[in-house]
Amino acid sequence: MPFNLPGILAPVHLIINPRLVVPSVVVKDIRQLDFQALYKAGYRGAVFDKDNCLTVPHEDRLVPELTDAWRECRETFGPGNVLVVSNTAGSHTDVGEIEAEAVSHHLCVSVLRHSSLKPSYACIKSIRAYFASLPRPVRDEELVVVGDRLLTDVIMANRMARKARRQESGSGSEDEKRALVGENVPTPGRVGPLAVWTEGLWKREGLLLRTIEKGMLRGVERWVLGPQEKAWRESLQHRFVKPVPAEVGPVKERGWARRLWERFSK
Ligand SMILES: [Mg+2]
Repeated sequence: MPFNLPGILAPVHLIINPRLVVPSVVVKDIRQLDFQALYKAGYRGAVFDKDNCLTVPHEDRLVPELTDAWRECRETFGPGNVLVVSNTAGSHTDVGEIEAEAVSHHLCVSVLRHSSLKPSYACIKSIRAYFASLPRPVRDEELVVVGDRLLTDVIMANRMARKARRQESGSGSEDEKRALVGENVPTPGRVGPLAVWTEGLWKREGLLLRTIEKGMLRGVERWVLGPQEKAWRESLQHRFVKPVPAEVGPVKERGWARRLWERFSK
């Protein structure tokens, strides 16, 4: 795992705005995402993390179980509108961009080349530049951002959101009006990408960090979010998440206490 200063500093930002760590929806893996429903709701592009979201960490190939879901995603949004943003492949640690080339080849989508790691604002700028360069540019609020890490993927998605404005009558496209009135927003009063957290792991990695992240999320859910925000998240979960897939899937993440109990109870 590369040294990630923007990721290390992210908890400082959480002191000011703890809601940044809250995903819009939570899934076990991308098979639970209803891509057709997302498209119907106005989402036109997707940003995916790589390690432990689409591939086993440090591997270039898609996890076989995700083949159908990945194909459906690319067919729904169009391959050019799906972008992999990884803190390994395509980052400054990917010397010669060899890993980015391999991932792009195996996953059949573009891999963002970026010099600053997620969740930095420089990385966000690179993502915006990519989607703005498409034949039909995709705005932040038309994006779905998917990843397995709260302190990088989810914080980055939420940093892209801005305050919703009142609908300006008589101007703008239907999509624009929908975003402005707040039908298609990640949290009430905000306009931005839908932040999707994949909580299942294809390989156990960084478990202590993940336990801390989960603890932060639980704390914010319990002490910071209001009833309106909780109800909104439930409605998003209902709209865009399909039932849990078959047993074959990512490793269920267990807490340290449970693992300790299982070790001594054998
Ligand atoms: Mg990851």
